[in-house]
Amino acid sequence: MKKLTQQEQKYLLESIRNIPDFPKKGILFKDITTLLNNKEALNFLLKHLQAYYKDKNLDFIAGIESRGFIFASMLCAKLSLPFVPIRKANKLPFETLSCKYELEYGTDSIEIHKDAFRGIKKAKVLLVDDLIATGGTALASYELIKKAGGECVEAFFLLNLKDLKGYLKLKELTSVYSVLEI
Ligand code: AMP
Repeated sequence: MKKLTQQEQKYLLESIRNIPDFPKKGILFKDITTLLNNKEALNFLLKHLQAYYKDKNLDFIAGIESRGFIFASMLCAKLSLPFVPIRKANKLPFETLSCKYELEYGTDSIEIHKDAFRGIKKAKVLLVDDLIATGGTALASYELIKKAGGECVEAFFLLNLKDLKGYLKLKELTSVYSVLEI
C-alpha cells in the first residue's frame, strides 16, 4: 500500500484552508471545503484512497457525522462498498446503539443503527472521519462498531492533529491511517 510522498502531502495540505479562532478562540479550524471544491485535489485524494483500500477486503465503510459522511460515501462509490452512518444522538430513525464520550465540558453521544451491518458476523469495517484530534469521537465510534457486531479493521482520517494524541489511543485498538499529519 503506497503512502503519499511529502510533496503530494504538501499539495493536499495546501488545498485545505485554515480558519483561526473558529468555532471559538484558540481553535485553528481545518476547513476541508476548499479541498472538496478543488477538482484536481479531490480526484487526487480519491484515487490515492481507492488504490490504498482496494485490496483490504472491506465489507462496509462507516462515516462519522458530518464531514466523515462526505469522504466515506465518496470512497464507497469508488470501491463499490456499502455505507453506514454514525450520527449524533436522536438523528437515526430506527433502533440504535449509542456511546457516550467526553467533551471539554460535559459529554456527548453518537449512535449507529443496531442492524447497520445486516447481521454479517464480524463484518470488516473501515471507520472514516475528516480529522482526529483528542480521539473522543473516533474511540466512541470504534466502540459502536463493535457493539453492532462489526470489526473495525482500520480508521482513516484525512488529517491527524498529532499533538492532541487521540490517534495514539485509537492505535492501541486498531490500525490507523491518516494521509496528513500536522
Ligand atoms: P476529537 O473527538 O477531539 O478527535 O475531534 C474530532 C472531530 O471534531 C472531527 O469530527 C472533526 O471534524 C472535528 N474537529 C476537531 N478539531 C477540529 C479542527 N481543528 N478543525 C476541524 N475540525 C475539527
